[in-house]
Amino acid sequence: MTTSERINLHDLAPAQLSATVGEVVSPPFRAKQIEEWLHLRGASSFDAMTNIPKELRAQLAERFSAAFPEVIERTTPAADGSQKYLFVLEDGNRIESVYMPMTDRTSICLSSQAGCAVGCTFCVTGFFGAGRNLTPSEMTGQFFTIAHEHAVPMEQMNVVFMGMGEPLLNLDHVVTTLDVFYRSIAPKRITISTSGIIPGIEELAKLPRRPNLAVSINAPDQKRREEIMPITKKYPLGELIATLKRYPTEKGRELTAEYVLLAGWNDSISDAVALAKLLRGLNVKVNAIPFNEDANLPAWMKRPTDVAIDRFVSTLVRSGVHVTVRRSKGRDIAAACGQLRGKSEPRKRSRV
Ligand code: SF4
Repeated sequence: MTTSERINLHDLAPAQLSATVGEVVSPPFRAKQIEEWLHLRGASSFDAMTNIPKELRAQLAERFSAAFPEVIERTTPAADGSQKYLFVLEDGNRIESVYMPMTDRTSICLSSQAGCAVGCTFCVTGFFGAGRNLTPSEMTGQFFTIAHEHAVPMEQMNVVFMGMGEPLLNLDHVVTTLDVFYRSIAPKRITISTSGIIPGIEELAKLPRRPNLAVSINAPDQKRREEIMPITKKYPLGELIATLKRYPTEKGRELTAEYVLLAGWNDSISDAVALAKLLRGLNVKVNAIPFNEDANLPAWMKRPTDVAIDRFVSTLVRSGVHVTVRRSKGRDIAAACGQLRGKSEPRKRSRV
């Protein structure tokens, strides 16, 4: 059997994994050991399972795979310690992930699709066009590979789905991936970032355990949001805000409204006032993200000055809005927000 013909056990949710492994393994404690190797320790080969008898490991390898995507490039760590990883998938697609160490925690930014069809005009992934959904093993694989390399304790680990792709357009696989992560990481340490896919947000709202939700807002009105986020035509801003008002947030948690600041376009005092008005009534904090310039993106898109950023933020604060400013990590290695591409050569923009 080739690797692609074997079931990759990392593609299975915890309950499915128990059933699948339990069918071929006895006694039951062996199945539990195998699950722990896969879901808690992120083993990517049966040979690594040193407390499992050799013959059983060989039998498992005949029927199943536990492979993760292969790292083909790592950047030298940036000044802030962040590091970008380029993975190749079995079908040749390439994706990127980012390791971001901080003083009290470490975040790993994962891709959920090999490309993105949403086509936000400020995003390099969108510029390079659509790709396929990633499988759970391709998402957990990014995480475990990077976590193992840096030997980060699980209790310090945060996971953010903010890399390539729109996670809510790959919801089934993302939910399976979350169920695996929940074995060792609390939901409050995991964040899903969306461009505002309303049906996906509604599905997420029904889950018994929910990650944090971040939504890209980026403009305080429908017309301007359509200009940089064409998805707004399908899911209008007013409906998105109404959906967020119905979204259940756990005690002590809040939604995040991401707002990419573009010089002279959405960073004025009146824009901040309009944004505060738009978000009124939501349990939300604004994460202001000064734009990261990139040669592939429209030349008019510029990063605002520090003065303009401070003016925008202080206007929001005066309007009673909770705000943080994302000083993007990894700018010098093109690993900051909206800069992931997974491909070395540009291709024609495509949208679905
Ligand atoms: S910002 Fe997110 S949703 Fe928009 S094009 Fe980029 S990856 Fe896709």
